[in-house]
Amino acid sequence: MKEILEKENKDSLSAIEKQEEYAYKVRCILEQAEKLRGKKLSVCVITFGCQQNEADSEKLVGQAVYMGYDKTSDLDDADLIIYNTCAVREHAELRALSRTGSLKHLKKKNPRLIIGLWGCMVTQDHRMNDIKTRYPYVDFVAGTNMLHRLPEILYDVLSSHKRRYYVTNEPADTVEGIPVVRENDIKAYVSIMYGCNNFCTYCVVPYVRGRERSRSKNAIIDEVRQLVYDGYRDITLLGQNVNSYRDPEYENGNYGFPELLNEICSIDGDFKIRFMTSHPKDASDKLIDLMAHNSKLARHFHLPLQSGSSDILRKMNRKYSAEEYLQLALKIKEKVPGIALTTDIIVGFPGETEKDFECTLDMVRAVRFDSIFAFIYSPRVGTPASKMDDPISHEEKTERMARLLELQTEISAEINKNYVGKTITALCESHFPAEEDFYTARTSENKIVFFKKLNNNSDLYGKTIKIEITRSTPARLYGEYSGK
Ligand code: SAH
Ligand code: SF4
Repeated sequence: MKEILEKENKDSLSAIEKQEEYAYKVRCILEQAEKLRGKKLSVCVITFGCQQNEADSEKLVGQAVYMGYDKTSDLDDADLIIYNTCAVREHAELRALSRTGSLKHLKKKNPRLIIGLWGCMVTQDHRMNDIKTRYPYVDFVAGTNMLHRLPEILYDVLSSHKRRYYVTNEPADTVEGIPVVRENDIKAYVSIMYGCNNFCTYCVVPYVRGRERSRSKNAIIDEVRQLVYDGYRDITLLGQNVNSYRDPEYENGNYGFPELLNEICSIDGDFKIRFMTSHPKDASDKLIDLMAHNSKLARHFHLPLQSGSSDILRKMNRKYSAEEYLQLALKIKEKVPGIALTTDIIVGFPGETEKDFECTLDMVRAVRFDSIFAFIYSPRVGTPASKMDDPISHEEKTERMARLLELQTEISAEINKNYVGKTITALCESHFPAEEDFYTARTSENKIVFFKKLNNNSDLYGKTIKIEITRSTPARLYGEYSGK
């Protein structure tokens, strides 16, 4: 066993060493290009989709900066543009494609500009074909399993002056040591696992991100410890289903997510841990107990429901019934008083009847989520649901969506109203006012507070402060900070 692990570690190390060699070659090419351009070259990475993509983009920027690029958010100024794409719903794909279309004129202005499309959308054959035929000015395309190989890809493009396609079906490794440039200096994402094995029938993620694989707990804990040391105050652990985390190096595989959380929470320092996403079928009592007793765990649980109808849940392959979900949600609320529950809901799954939809509304009333993310079902190529009969019109689905949002807005308004008159603690997230005189802060329950400073001009960014809540809306709390 030990020998195999050591070999795996060596392979992983050599994967990064190989990339360092490519990075050096790219740096030499860039030095020549800088002379021609008369300034340092810059990289702009634009992210579509989820937090996992945001975390991946930080690694793309990290590798580009390691190769000698400056980071920019200005597309007009960039010499390397990468769109990190999403495939979860059609809308995200169409947005990425239309924005790719508008890069054509930049290429005319700066013929040396390199354009890359990365991630989930391009990992699908039909999209790859679109790009090959309709977007000739895209220089490279790379799938999610190429994350650590940007130096190699860029070297290939820069030295061959040809379009390159790095999309394969090979299973991805969990490579450690990829350079990262983080977007924020108090909030950070830490991926603890990649991919998904659940195959919910509507979802493209298992196809574009591959099978589930966990990072070693030692690598994760080292990363979190370093973040805490560097002053990060709010850390979100990421995975498609964090509850099925298993330390690959632990014999018998019995070091799971609660064990990982426990060990992370024992790191000294003033920080909060969040996690996303937790599949209801695997949310254990051990995890709930930990949430109840460990003050480093944020009092927020995102527990995707998808539908309140057991029939639809079965067709979705979610592996829990509506009753089981309700019991779990109520248990979490009872064991962790004051916890904020949020969820994802899909409206208009193929064959969803009015009765099924009403079950979803009933569930929303029974659980009283703090907020929801609701999506109209979007058929995804290659998924089982895309082949199911779907007699419900788009108009009907839009109308259901409006009814769901109206109900949730009422509930969120009522929940947030309960905060008015109370003093809460929250982490200040802005150096400067975000809107008029209002600064922003985030509570442990993941609520955004817009607050005014009374008689106080010090920079509160990164500090946990007490705010008196004076009013609320369904999506926000408003308050005042008096320095007390
Ligand atoms: N792994 C996470 C979800 C990742 S996708 C989980 O299981 O909760 C984020 C959300 O997008 C899902 O929870 C679902 O509500 C929504 N979603 C996924 N596929 C979709 C589709 N084909 N149409 C509409 N919404 C979808
Ligand atoms: Fe998609 Fe289901 Fe996996 Fe979430 S658990 S990523 S919804 S297949």
